[in-house]
Amino acid sequence: MPEGIAQHHDGWFELALRAGRMVAWEQDLVTDHVSRSDSSVDLIGIGSGPLSGILERIHPDDRHLRAGLGRSGRQEEEVVFRFMTAEGGQIWLATRVRRVSPERLIGISFDVTEAKTAQDRIREMALHDDLTGLPNRTCCAEHLERAIGGAHPDGVALMALDFDYFKEINDSFGHEAGDFFLKTIAGRLRALSGKGVTAARLSGDEFLVIAPGLDRQEAMAFARKLARRVGQPVEYRSQTLWAGVSIGLSRYPDDAETADGLVKAADIALYRAKNSGRSRTVAFKPEMGHVVEERQRLLSELRGALRYGQVQPFYQPKIDLRTGRITGFEALARWFHPERGILTPVSFQAAFEDPHLSLRITTYLFRRVLVDLVNLRRIGLDPGTISFNLSNAAFGHPKIVRRIVAALETFDIPAESFEIEVTENVLLNRNEIVARRKINHLRRNGIRISLDDFGTGNASLSHLQTFRVDTIKIDKSFVDDICDDAKGRAIVSGIVTIAGALGLTVVAEGVETIGQKECLQAVGCDQAQGYLFSRPMSYDRVVDLLRKETADQGR
Ligand code: C2E
Ligand code: CA
Ligand code: CA
Repeated sequence: MPEGIAQHHDGWFELALRAGRMVAWEQDLVTDHVSRSDSSVDLIGIGSGPLSGILERIHPDDRHLRAGLGRSGRQEEEVVFRFMTAEGGQIWLATRVRRVSPERLIGISFDVTEAKTAQDRIREMALHDDLTGLPNRTCCAEHLERAIGGAHPDGVALMALDFDYFKEINDSFGHEAGDFFLKTIAGRLRALSGKGVTAARLSGDEFLVIAPGLDRQEAMAFARKLARRVGQPVEYRSQTLWAGVSIGLSRYPDDAETADGLVKAADIALYRAKNSGRSRTVAFKPEMGHVVEERQRLLSELRGALRYGQVQPFYQPKIDLRTGRITGFEALARWFHPERGILTPVSFQAAFEDPHLSLRITTYLFRRVLVDLVNLRRIGLDPGTISFNLSNAAFGHPKIVRRIVAALETFDIPAESFEIEVTENVLLNRNEIVARRKINHLRRNGIRISLDDFGTGNASLSHLQTFRVDTIKIDKSFVDDICDDAKGRAIVSGIVTIAGALGLTVVAEGVETIGQKECLQAVGCDQAQGYLFSRPMSYDRVVDLLRKETADQGR
């Protein structure tokens, strides 16, 4: 027992050391001899001896920490290092020392493995996502700061990923499938990681990928590769899950100088990818920022407009081409803007495509239409079938069908007086099973389905077998050509024939001239809609029109 420690050497001291799982020691800084308390042999497996005796048992990366003790000039120091036990395991030792004279160091060492492990686990938990094990938002921000901060001054690419139809996987296959999907995606991202590339999960189905050391072209090529790999369908219990991935790309230093700015730029590009048709990869451009601000302003203004009842449906009649009678109306949104007058949806289309606002505006408009319908019936007028448009985002909303059916019940309106209009892309750009389930849910409740803008999207007549619809609306662009060339006429005629064979009603949109009307009659089109017959009108004008029709019929 060394002199210093021997001074305290009584049974109590040694017992206290053992109870605290501690080693007391003293080092001669001239000879580097270390004297240790008796507890040392039990706890770390070495007794008194040269400094090298302990150094060779310390992890090579940590060795300098212990070797440097007493040489810094400071009076008190503390270090934590990894130590190999005699059994070959590793423990963490904390050592606290005091330099009592120029040649003498006294210290105490104790095992902090448990605390250290718990601390690491907490850190790991704080920085990683539970489900996928990928770094989380906090950890990702650190990585990004580091990548920008000097490690890769020559360029850092950032990719924001978002799955287009993940919600639908959850809705139709359950959360277990959703979790499986996310874990598979995480696995794919991990496979692409390494060489400085880091992937992180931010929340839900949002991921970020940081790829340093790429120029603009390489960054785009990498993002495309990412889209290909990550966008592959996922097999789950003999089912195929597919959600489509949209990617927004930004690059340091071209698009932003800070980590925050870079994330914002990638988000804006992602937003653009979603809006230009989804399942795309889009690189940030400065002018995109402006568009996003405009849109935000518009959306918040529209929220107010909904609150003040400034948004209302107008109605455009549909005409039976054989009898000339009104068969129904299409409801079309109008915004009575206090400064800009009556706005058509061109000015606020974004609201219909916003994931949150679309549900609100759609539900709101649908109720307004129902109120108008109740009022018409009260005064004894029957407007026929009312067509109501559902945007891509609104159709995608898990609650939409239930809301529609519930609203019909609330107002006690028979579902048969309703037709829901969706475009081909609304059906085709998403999980087919989910889309079909929604369509069937609506039809089961007696609501008719109309395929809007037919011919302009990716659909072909063959899709009519996948999705059971009741009506197809031939897009205005075909009607425009119908009189001018034989080809235009042949297309419309073909659609009418096939639709007839499938038992579907055909409505021609945007009929503006008598010539167009006659051509449509000649090919056997059932109904038409257009300025030739009437522009969309307010509720009051609908009342006038229906009264006049009833009077004409009575005559
Ligand atoms: P859409 O569903 O194809 O509606 C027909 C559009 O063509 C309407 O424009 C209508 O006013 C216009 N139109 C009708 N006849 C003629 C014509 O003879 N010539 C010309 N040039 N145009 C004609 P509107 O009301 O501006 O609506 C534009 C689009 O906005 C609609 O196209 C629809 O996609 C969307 N929209 C309107 N209301 C709603 C709504 O309540 N919900 C949703 N999701 N979308 C809506
Ligand atoms: Ca429509
Ligand atoms: Ca249309």
